[in-house]
Amino acid sequence: MDQAELLAIDQAHAWHPYTSTIDRDPVYPVRAAQGCRLELMDGRILIDGMSSWWCAIHGYNHPVLNQAARDQLDRMSHVMFGGLTHEPAMRLVRSLVDLTPEPLRHVFLCDSGSVAVEVAIKMALQFWIAAGRPERHRLMTIRSGYHGDTFNAMAVCDPVTGMHHLFNRVLPQQVFAPAPTSRFGEPCRPDDIAPFAELIERHQHELAAVILEPIVQGAGGMRFYSADYLARVRALCDRFDVLLIADEIATGFGRTGRLFACEHAGIAPDILTLGKALTGGYLTLAATLASRRVAHTISSGEPGVFMHGPTFMGNPLACAVANASIALLLSADWQANIRRIEQGLEDGLSPCRGLPGVAEVRVLGAIGVVEMAHPVAMRDIQRRFVERGVWVRPFGRLVYLMPPYVISNPELDVLCEAVRQVLGPETTLRHQP
Ligand SMILES: *Cc1c(COP(=O)(O)O)cnc(C)c1O
Repeated sequence: MDQAELLAIDQAHAWHPYTSTIDRDPVYPVRAAQGCRLELMDGRILIDGMSSWWCAIHGYNHPVLNQAARDQLDRMSHVMFGGLTHEPAMRLVRSLVDLTPEPLRHVFLCDSGSVAVEVAIKMALQFWIAAGRPERHRLMTIRSGYHGDTFNAMAVCDPVTGMHHLFNRVLPQQVFAPAPTSRFGEPCRPDDIAPFAELIERHQHELAAVILEPIVQGAGGMRFYSADYLARVRALCDRFDVLLIADEIATGFGRTGRLFACEHAGIAPDILTLGKALTGGYLTLAATLASRRVAHTISSGEPGVFMHGPTFMGNPLACAVANASIALLLSADWQANIRRIEQGLEDGLSPCRGLPGVAEVRVLGAIGVVEMAHPVAMRDIQRRFVERGVWVRPFGRLVYLMPPYVISNPELDVLCEAVRQVLGPETTLRHQP
């Protein structure tokens, strides 16, 4: 297929994420990808600053992950998980239990992040039904969160950026505390946790669980908040006997400098969701982990079973790649590598602090964020990134980098320089009449 034909089909029939079928956003056809580089059909090479939405931590076309997929493909790509089990899934389940905090003992494999969140919410609700407290059916969360696009996940996304008004008639109404304002690396100010403490106390009798993204709020605003705040949330959940669901779909597998972001606060959730980087970006796979208490309560009360079971549960191909991806991550000094990227992002993006229109620059682990004072013109700015040979896709007021962990220092420099140039004086000049 040539580029013109591909684009014509795309234009006529393909619906991309969050897009109109009439007012078309430009799309860039990719022919292949290797390491940190995307090769467009017109021959241009782009350095990837997005890891395909947090996933491709080892870059693209990695020989180890390719081999794991090939080996598994030759054995079996899929069998049902109802009544059958297999080595790829058991290896994965065991390593997820080993890598996550002690109380998490039971792993439910599923298809995507949003489904993992639905599963986590169902676990919390079934826990209280089984415990004879069905009135504990609501969720509490913090604003500026993102938990996925299915209905119950949407219901705990930020009400404004999650466009709750569109679906108000069907979305369950959950309890929202303000987003934390105490920053990462700082203690939690008493006035920051106070509204959360007040709400959890007021709603304790109807709350099943608190759900939040630990430390880094991703698609809801790329905000990094105080580990001390998270520790206080854990303590409040304990005090009022509310379950804590940590959504580590974006933060899991090293992105924030710890394997899981909960480790920054030294806390363990009752339920944990993982996805995105789980297979190194190769296949869609997610997992919801539950503590022994949650699993045993669900299993010993009414109806005695957990009511969920996706068709592609425990897909062997995805599990085999996930096992290879985790082994690859842990085989090297990944923490030193994340610190290297963190330093590169800090050095490369901090000059943006002086630019007009820039509200804040923040870096944590392999995440670098330039927050603008006003929303950016996405199409225009994305085109200018492509012209500079990088793949960066801003949203709202946020221009951010979260490159694959295999990025080299020179590639990182190119990414940061492109951000400085695109947001720099040139932008100011272009916007002047
Ligand atoms: C991306 C994301 C989800 C949803 O995952 P999908 O695989 O897109 O369904 C949920 N929670 C968080 C924190 C995410 O970043």
